[in-house]
Amino acid sequence: VPWDVTEDALLEAFGPYGRCRVEWPGNEARFARPGQNRGTITRGKVTGYVYMIFDHEHSVRQLLRDCSQEFGSAGEWYFRLKAKRNNTIETRQVQIIPWVVSDASYVEDPGARLDAKKTVFVGALHGMITAHVLFSIMNELYGKVVFVGIDTDKYKYPIGSGRVTFSSHSSYFRAIECAFLEIKTSKFSKRVQIDPFLEESECMICHQSVGPYFCRDRGCFRYHCSMCWQRRHPPGSLNATHRYLTRNTPRNNRDPIDLLNLGNSLI
Ligand SMILES: [Zn+2]
Ligand SMILES: [Zn+2]
Repeated sequence: VPWDVTEDALLEAFGPYGRCRVEWPGNEARFARPGQNRGTITRGKVTGYVYMIFDHEHSVRQLLRDCSQEFGSAGEWYFRLKAKRNNTIETRQVQIIPWVVSDASYVEDPGARLDAKKTVFVGALHGMITAHVLFSIMNELYGKVVFVGIDTDKYKYPIGSGRVTFSSHSSYFRAIECAFLEIKTSKFSKRVQIDPFLEESECMICHQSVGPYFCRDRGCFRYHCSMCWQRRHPPGSLNATHRYLTRNTPRNNRDPIDLLNLGNSLI
């Protein structure tokens, strides 16, 4: 959307398709800078996109009927957004990214057990990537994939992350060792992040306390309590360069809590 678009202009443009409201992306506090007012204009300027939430699915279908798809393009939808500016009406072309709910998961083998120890977390995903597309990419690069889930919010819209379960540990480790993966399709190019999918675990060194700090280095690759983390990664040692992951490390701009809740239902 244009950086200076207002909520009223959006409601006026999309209202004819049915009852809807505007959700500005991200956590306002995260985008606001000290001393700035947290107006919607500031947020629109920072992110360049908004979520339009319709009460009914048929509104989305009707909206898409009024969108154009450029001939020869990869199928992106464009909508002509009219907005008043300085007493004149301006038309801007904005992209609409609909989501088909069934694209959020892909199961290759319904009988396979979804083992968290063979599951990777994929972050910084592009909003147009479907579970099946992610399946094809990961399956080709790292080996047999049994399940792909795209994490979604309460409206079942993607939040920019997903989980991929492999059938073997060797595929899992190949994926983890990459850490980042450049996905290029006709629609977009995006560098995604691959991390181990974390569970709640006890410290795997002392077995005395909870181990929220997971060291993703292949030499460690285990959960630590903070005492054991410090003991195994002292400053100046070879291990000092290791980085840890926790279940609460924010990994994208939308609601990371949602994603963690979804993670709990994995097994
Ligand atoms: Zn410990
Ligand atoms: Zn380590």
